[in-house]
This record gives sequence, C-alpha cells and structure tokens, in this order.
Amino acid sequence: MASTLLIACGNNGNKSTTPGVEEFKYIVDKFEDVEILRYRVPGFENLTLKQKELVYYLSQAAIEGRDILYDQNGKHNLCIRRTLEAVYLNYDGDRNSNEFVHLTNYLKQVWMGNGIHHHYSADKFTPKFSESFFAEAINSVDTEKLPLLHGETPEMLIKKLTPVIFDPTVLPKRVNQTQGEDLITTSANNYYEGVTQAEAEGFYDAMKDPDDNTPIAYGLNSKLVKEDGVIKEKVYKVGGLYSPAIERIVHWLKKASEVAENTQQKAVIDSLIEFYTTGDLKTYDDYSIKWVQDVHSLVDFVNGFTESYGDPLGMKASWESIVNFKNTEATKRTEVISSNAQWFEDHSPIEPRFRKEKVKGVSAKVITAAMLGGDCYPASPLGINLPNSNWIRRDYGSKSVTIENIAEAYNRASLGNGFAEEFMWSNVEREQAKKYSALTDNLHTDLHECLGHGSGKLLPGVDPDALKAYGSPIEEARADLFGLYFMADPIMVKLGLLPDTEAYKAQYYQYVMNGLMTQLVRIQPGKDIEQAHMRNRQLIASWVYEKGNPDNVIELAVKDGKHYVKINDYEKLQGLFGQLLAEIQEIKSTGDFDGARHLIETYAVKVNQPLHTEILERYKKLNLTPYRGFINPSYTPVTDKKGKITDICINYEEDYLKQNIRYSQEFSTLPIYN
Ligand code: ZN
Repeated sequence: MASTLLIACGNNGNKSTTPGVEEFKYIVDKFEDVEILRYRVPGFENLTLKQKELVYYLSQAAIEGRDILYDQNGKHNLCIRRTLEAVYLNYDGDRNSNEFVHLTNYLKQVWMGNGIHHHYSADKFTPKFSESFFAEAINSVDTEKLPLLHGETPEMLIKKLTPVIFDPTVLPKRVNQTQGEDLITTSANNYYEGVTQAEAEGFYDAMKDPDDNTPIAYGLNSKLVKEDGVIKEKVYKVGGLYSPAIERIVHWLKKASEVAENTQQKAVIDSLIEFYTTGDLKTYDDYSIKWVQDVHSLVDFVNGFTESYGDPLGMKASWESIVNFKNTEATKRTEVISSNAQWFEDHSPIEPRFRKEKVKGVSAKVITAAMLGGDCYPASPLGINLPNSNWIRRDYGSKSVTIENIAEAYNRASLGNGFAEEFMWSNVEREQAKKYSALTDNLHTDLHECLGHGSGKLLPGVDPDALKAYGSPIEEARADLFGLYFMADPIMVKLGLLPDTEAYKAQYYQYVMNGLMTQLVRIQPGKDIEQAHMRNRQLIASWVYEKGNPDNVIELAVKDGKHYVKINDYEKLQGLFGQLLAEIQEIKSTGDFDGARHLIETYAVKVNQPLHTEILERYKKLNLTPYRGFINPSYTPVTDKKGKITDICINYEEDYLKQNIRYSQEFSTLPIYN
C-alpha cells in the first residue's frame, strides 16, 4: 500500500513534505508490555543531496551491527532469533492458533530485547507457547531453512534451545547485580566465557596503571575468555571477533567518508574506520576526541561499542548507533542554556565549595534522529551525553544531545490514551500538561544532560567510584534535581526558555506523580525497584513528599477510593528540590557511601504495596503498555541512468514485523555462534 503521506522525496524548497503530526500514524504495534511507535524525520527532505547521502550511508552502517548486539546479549540469541523467524515465515499449520500467535509475540519480544531477555529489567522472557508446539513448529519447517550447525539435526536444535527458552532457572538474568554473587558467571550476557568474576577483575587490575591520567577504556571492545587455561581477550575488529559485521560497517563508513560535510568530519569517520580495523583502544580515544570536537557539522552519528550497562563490571560495551542531524531551530534553546552554564553553576543551591569555579565544554544540541541501531533500537534514549571516558570529558568536554523527534513520538502517542484522565488530580493539571509538558519535558532533558551531569565537583582525593552500586542512581538524581530546581527559576522566562511562570508546574506535577505512583506500572507485584533511573525518581519524589509533609506541600489525596498526587505549594516544592540537591551534591562531592546507601535504601527501593496494587489495577483497565520501542523509516536511493544517486527517499510505511524480518534478511552478517 503506497500512500503519498508516508513517503517524502525531493527538496520542496522551504515547504516541508514531512507528514504533519496530526495525520502521522505514530502507533504501529502492541504486544505484551510494549507499544511500538514510528517517528517522523522532519527536515530530512531539505538536507542537501550530499547530506542525504551521508545520512543514508551512516544509516546502513547503523543496521549492519544489529547481529553483534544479539550475540553480545547472549550466546544463543542469534540461533533463537533465526529459528523463530524460520518458523514465522514457513510454518504451514494454523497461523491463527493461540500457540502460533504466542510464538509470534515472543519473537516480537526477542526483537525488542535484542535477545531473550527484557531490554529494561534484563529478566528472561516467559514464553506463552508450549514446548511441544515449539518442537512441532520446528519440525514443520524445511531443514535447510533452519539455522543448523554442521551435522546438527532439527531434533538436536530443539533439544539445545528448549531449556534456554523455557526453563526459568537457565540463564535467568542478562545482567545480575546481586551483591555477593559471582556477577560474571551468573549473568547470561556473552562478554565473558569460562572466567569467574575474580579472574576477570584480576585480569584487568593487572593491566591498569593507577598513575595513568589518560587511561584507555580497558576491555571495552572484547570478549574475555579462558582457553586451555589461559585468559585472553577476543577483540571485536576486522579479522577478529564479529569481523563479518564490522567489515560491512566499515564498507559503509568508507562511503560516508567520501561525502563528509567537511574535513573535520571526514577525519572523525576515518579515525573510526581505523579503530574498527585495528581494535586499538588508543585509536578509539583519538576518535572520541575528534568526535567531541566536531560541533559544526549538521549531520552527526554514534556508531560503535558505547554503553557498558550490559556488563555487571561496567567495562564491556554493547554496540549501538544513532544517525542524526541538528535541529537548528530547537538548538537555539540548548545554546542559550550552555552559554549560561556558569550562571547556573554559580547559582546552584549547593555549598559553594562543591561548585565548579569554571564550567567547561558543554556542547549541547537538539537533534533529529534519522536512524536507530543496535542498543538504540527498538528502545531509544531521549538524550545522550558522550563520550563516556572520564578524562576525555575532563580535558575535551562532552557532546550532549536531546532527541526531539523521538520525544515528539512519545508525547503524541500518549495524547488521549486515558492516562491523564485516570491519574491526574483535576482538569487544572490535565490542561497544564496539554499546554506545557512537551516543552518542559524537552527542557528538563536539556538541563539534565547539558548542565546537570557536568555541574559540581569532587573534593580533592575523592574516589569517583566511592558510591559503588549507589553511584548511578545518585548521579541521575543529581542531574534531575538540577533541572527541576532551575525550571522554576525566573531565569527560564528571562532567557526565553519558558513562555511564562506557570509552565514549570506541568513538569513538577508529572515528575512527582510518576515518581510516587505511575512509574510503578513497570514493577512486578511484590518486587523492589532495581533500575537506576526508577530508583532516582522514587528517591526524589518520596523524599520531597516526606519533607514537605509538615507544610502539606504534596498530598496523596483520595477520591472515589483512588489515590492522586495533589501539589498544594509549588514554590515550597522548588525549595525542597534545592535542599535535596544540596544533600546529594555533598554525598557525591565527599564520596559519602553511607549517606548514599541511606538515601537509596530509605526512599528509592521499597514499594508501597497497597498503592502499587491499586496503580496496577487502574493501569490495567486502560489497556496501556509501560514500555515503548520504535521502528525506523527506510531510505531508498534514487539513481539516474548512469547509476548516480540523485535523491534519497524516506519511507515510513513499514511495520514492526516487516522491518525486523527485512533487517534479518538483508543484514544477517554473523554466524549463528561466534
Ligand atoms: Zn542522566
């Protein structure tokens, strides 16, 4: 089905051919706890041909790494995905049967998690189809269509995969963070094989030089294995581990290099190619420095082994990519923020000795995502702040981005879904949200990313890792509080960042409502909160709730037997945010582990059980899902008779199933086991 609404080609002068927000169909699919959305790429049609080509080549490179992430997330993932896809495409039994529908949903979950574990909780999925159906379905498929190893029969395949998929005690968690257990051997990820946590730590401790002021990111791009009693790294590079995928990435990067916008950007891309070719982490640092310094190009990208959340030791990085171009109009907002960074630092409500005398190097921009890949797909971040290397951030600064078109999709898809009606106290809050929440959400992300994380300083001699496992929620709380506190400051209106002195209330209300109540929809009944961002939000919300109690700042009001957040004093609430920011900054600056533990364990972990039950019931009636994923548009080159590219068309028509099946067919780069 072709519809002009969903395809945009050519440069139409200044007139946008991107579908408008009203007519765009954001919601594509829904299964289990996930809703899949499309996002628009406004402004793509107005890029120059060369920039479009650049986006296209980088986009191809962004999909070529897909298989890498599956294999990093678990060693059976590629085999399972390909088996399920073979069944999905070839099963000739009743495709409307419950069993088949459940198998299809499970496959959709595997795509969402880039493996058999949940993208957010890291718990293994529980299939709703039966073991016997799994076997029957595989047996119904032609043998040559199954991902069989040399000499393997379908029976052997079934026997191998059945416990991995069905037995809840086998590989239950992708990342295990439970203190006191061997975090390596109990985690299902594929970053280590045959080594214990002690061996892995010993291996890397021996490499580290405590006097090195500019250390490489040890272990970032390799798998650590023990072979014949010897512990060694298998490096991800051309000629090394994942070579077939990396060669394809390099192929597209070379094409991108030829159409780079300027010599600086070309040097960034060439340096990344060199890193992929050699696997040398010193080159990776060179690349990161060049990347952070390239602030003038319109088109930009992340492509590589980037975030280390998937490794319980925080060293090995998952592969991800995002291709984007600057949203010049919206970037004026972040430029205003970063050019006033010192003012914010000087007026931060923390003890002066914890302030930075000189804030530096925050380059912030608002971007339009054009392609998500690897660990940014289908679940996408809303903001990114890179590189992760501490010394590069110290010496060269970092790039902070807010991804506005992804935020737009989130917001538009939520309109009219009944959520605000069910959970907000009154029409005042609902109107506030309608009017201001898209704006204040983006502004909060900007403040969090471009100022919050970069603000404050450690006292001399304080170990940056002193807060250990509590470090991550404390750091997120610090950045969130910085944004919350300043959002209500008159400076926001003065700088033109907010239209009036009412707007911040939309953000305050939704933040507290989410932290006290509605984020609990992501938690299973009876469980504690584990995820760092969720801990941070509950910490903030329940702390200000408790401390504001004597003045009745926030109420948990009851109407018709249901609980609602009601904010009675927004000004005092700002003061409380400032107070908590001061407390958390002191914990961070002094490396106060006990202080961090006290805050987190008191406010952030335990769930109010009766309230949780109530929220889950109310949420269930709305038939909503707590998680969202995205599908990409597709890009097609238009060529003339000589094969020269004359335009790149963008097409939004694909659905979730078609896109993932196509990716698996066109970008299946790696062997079943690596
Ligand atoms: Zn953050």
